[in-house]
Amino acid sequence: MNILILGSGGRESAFAWKIAQSPKCDKLFIAPGNAGTSQYGTTVNIGVNDFEGIKQLCLDQHIDLVLVGPEEPLVKGVHDFFLADDAIKHIPVIGPQAEGAQLEGSKDFSKQFMQRHGIPTAASRTFTRDTLQEGFEYLATAGLPIVLKADGLAAGKGVLICLSLQEAQQELIEMLNEAKFGDASSKVVIEQFLQGIELSVFVMTDGNSYKILPEAKDYKRIGEGDTGLNTGGMGSVSPVPFADAAFMKKVEDRIVIPTVEGLKKEGIPYKGFIFIGLMNCDGEPYTIEYNARMGDPETESVMRRIDSDFVDLLQGVAEGNLHEKELVISPKTAATVVCVAGGYPGEYMKGQVITGLDNMRGSLVFQAGTATQGDEVIATGGRVLMVTSLQDTMFEALQQATADASRIYYDGKVFRKDIGFDLL
Ligand code: ATP
Repeated sequence: MNILILGSGGRESAFAWKIAQSPKCDKLFIAPGNAGTSQYGTTVNIGVNDFEGIKQLCLDQHIDLVLVGPEEPLVKGVHDFFLADDAIKHIPVIGPQAEGAQLEGSKDFSKQFMQRHGIPTAASRTFTRDTLQEGFEYLATAGLPIVLKADGLAAGKGVLICLSLQEAQQELIEMLNEAKFGDASSKVVIEQFLQGIELSVFVMTDGNSYKILPEAKDYKRIGEGDTGLNTGGMGSVSPVPFADAAFMKKVEDRIVIPTVEGLKKEGIPYKGFIFIGLMNCDGEPYTIEYNARMGDPETESVMRRIDSDFVDLLQGVAEGNLHEKELVISPKTAATVVCVAGGYPGEYMKGQVITGLDNMRGSLVFQAGTATQGDEVIATGGRVLMVTSLQDTMFEALQQATADASRIYYDGKVFRKDIGFDLL
């Protein structure tokens, strides 16, 4: 079959690497891809939100399945666009329709969904400009720290953890009255702060049955020792030692099953991935957020631990027989170290020539913010490359990924040398 992956990050590179290995995949296309994706298939310069361009590509290349990487086209309704068009409605899209993507696209929707289905999460309430005064009253009675979340998509920047009441009040005013995050903060969820260790859990569902993919821990802060600004992710590790069978059973019973069943009960069709960001609070899982797609840089580690044919699993999602498919997970550890551009996550360098991509001693490099310029690969994004290693032990995986990340060169390169070492 011919498969199209939408996206251009490390996540899509890892999908492409995995899918290209499947005997079921004839031709693979990645749009818009990056400098590295041509190793796995044909890179086509069409944006993820250019639905007409995507349609034409599907028709021209006889695409049989579309896998959507990022959230934006899902929230904007790329799946609905396919279903509404006679010429392409027969092509299965992996990723929910806009309604299901609200699990990620609206934090108010997802919190209400969790409450309706008894899914453990932090206590919260949602406020708008009209209820600002009530928001102040709620803040005055809530403990500190307190979490303020813009309702809509805000490129990972819309969550603020406030340490004082004054700061929280000021932020609430800026979000609701001054559109700090544009339309995304026209509603604000005020949420209790959860103390614990975070974990990313990935569920693949055809809308009826589900499979739980390998879990991962990601490292969001730019600085070693988890310091400094939040980023899109500086590294990931899978498996996660504290996510043992007993803990994962709680996650499955209390979060995964009620989520899949809840969608079904509410008549929300959902074919795709559900990323559950959760907090382990003294051994009890609490849901922090849902994403309607896989995480990045977790996917890079997760794909390396899936031993089954990933296309077979995607077909199971598309055809509604996921329960008949086999998911084999490697007992090895995968570690991913992200190389970012100097200045990231603030204003960052662009256009640096990258060398050393062939210097790997065991790791794979999944490219993200890169482009080809003549014969050279140059950095174009904040997160440039993901270096992923799979080894028998966590120590070996971490050591290899970290050592291989240091074998790549470009001006201003930054990477964390402590990814995963807190888990050892
Ligand atoms: P991203 O796009 O990076 O996944 P997001 O903008 O969708 O993030 P959340 O994942 O909900 O927002 O929150 C971002 C981060 O803020 C979380 O990963 C977590 O570290 C922290 N956080 C969110 N909610 C809470 C909470 N209730 N208690 C403690 N920390 C929280």
